Amino acid sequence: MTEPAVSAEATLVHAGGRREPGEPAVQPPVLATIVVSAGEPRAEDYGRGGNATWVALEQALGAIEAAQAVVFSSGQAASMALMLALTRDRERILLAQDGYYNARLLAERLRPHGAAPVLVDQGDLTRVERELADGRAVLWAESPTNPLLRVADLSCLGDLAAAAGAPMIVDNTVATGLLQRPLDLGAVASLCSLTKSASGHSDVIAGAVMTRDEALADDLRTWRTLGGGILGPMEAWLAVRGLRTLPLRIERQSANALAIAEFLAGHPRVTAVHYPGVGDRADLARTQMPRGFGPLLSFETDGTANDADAVVAASRLIVPATSFGGVESAWERRGRWQGETAPATLIRLSAGIEPGADLIADIDHALAQGQPRG
Ligand code: PLP
Repeated sequence: MTEPAVSAEATLVHAGGRREPGEPAVQPPVLATIVVSAGEPRAEDYGRGGNATWVALEQALGAIEAAQAVVFSSGQAASMALMLALTRDRERILLAQDGYYNARLLAERLRPHGAAPVLVDQGDLTRVERELADGRAVLWAESPTNPLLRVADLSCLGDLAAAAGAPMIVDNTVATGLLQRPLDLGAVASLCSLTKSASGHSDVIAGAVMTRDEALADDLRTWRTLGGGILGPMEAWLAVRGLRTLPLRIERQSANALAIAEFLAGHPRVTAVHYPGVGDRADLARTQMPRGFGPLLSFETDGTANDADAVVAASRLIVPATSFGGVESAWERRGRWQGETAPATLIRLSAGIEPGADLIADIDHALAQGQPRG
């Protein structure tokens, strides 16, 4: 009799768990930087080359996207290894013009070692096709984008990239592999900052690349070992622990974010709402993200940047803080960061797992308190 298949959700719950009699049922973090030699040297004999706690994390992440996972010390460390690996013999790297701004800054920094960054509107498929034809390229897609939550048609982008012989990667941080599966839509690699929803408790910085391309996974591991952008065992352990509840958390966060987006769309002080589940790309979002649209939304208010700051400061529940995906709701006016190109009054809100009614009451209160002057 064949064994029943195990879902990704069940694998996450048991990630790192043990079944050997007398052994801890839950894997503790392995802090040792050396292991007793078994004769032939192996990468994991020294802690920069491998660690048992990463293995548990990589198995859990790999299960979500039916792929190999390679974990790094941060999302940016994962991006750097991936950019270096993919741009080695390519001239151009196409990035979303409204995507995560540090990806653009990183690509610019890596220009002498990689490819020239080209910013594109991912919704303009004709332009993307033209840019892909203009020299050997990598397509660095992001959907939904941070912080404008624009939804790119990943399947179409994947087709264009394949026709041009260009690898496509997708920054899948906002959705996570649980809500969206880029590797099924033509991406060679799916990038995730585990700092966000994946770990989910705002207490660990980590990143990962998921790929079904064995050679790319090997190359990424080599960049990790030589570059040293490795994840500490405690961080890996925290990430494994967080991942166990990802399905429950992201379901609640997605429901909260959708309810908040719908509330904001009818609020007189709100001039624009950005969320994959509302607006003209909602149908596409439903196809690509059938299980939910994720915790992140953004909106623009009337008045000035100072007025938007006053709204953020007036909240009693939502934490005024950057980042997203944690169990606690958080928001910030995004334009306060140098290098960010978001509209001046845009507030980015990460919905946590608090009851949705509490969050909506808090937002309503904050919008009433932070009224524009005059
Ligand atoms: N990708 C996206 C979409 C992000 O929002 C972030 C961080 O905010 C990163 C990558 C980088 O992740 P990390 O902060 O873990 O380096």
